[in-house]
Amino acid sequence: MGRLIVIGIVVLLVVWLLRRALAGPRAAGKSPEQAGELKGDLVACAHCGVNLPRLEARSAGGRFYCSEEHWRLGPRDG
Ligand SMILES: [Zn+2]
Repeated sequence: MGRLIVIGIVVLLVVWLLRRALAGPRAAGKSPEQAGELKGDLVACAHCGVNLPRLEARSAGGRFYCSEEHWRLGPRDG
């Protein structure tokens, strides 16, 4: 009886560790909400004004752009 309880606890521990190991990479990559938190705040494209995560934006001269095309075109108002 006591051994069954110990085996049960060990199984629960292994399942918990596996779920933690599987959840780690997902939290860093695929969940939009959690990825947004990890990537920090949003920035606006200086050309078209669309919001995107700072790490996905191209930056030049303290401004951010949503794509290479808008990065080449530069700020719309400048
Ligand atoms: Zn843009």
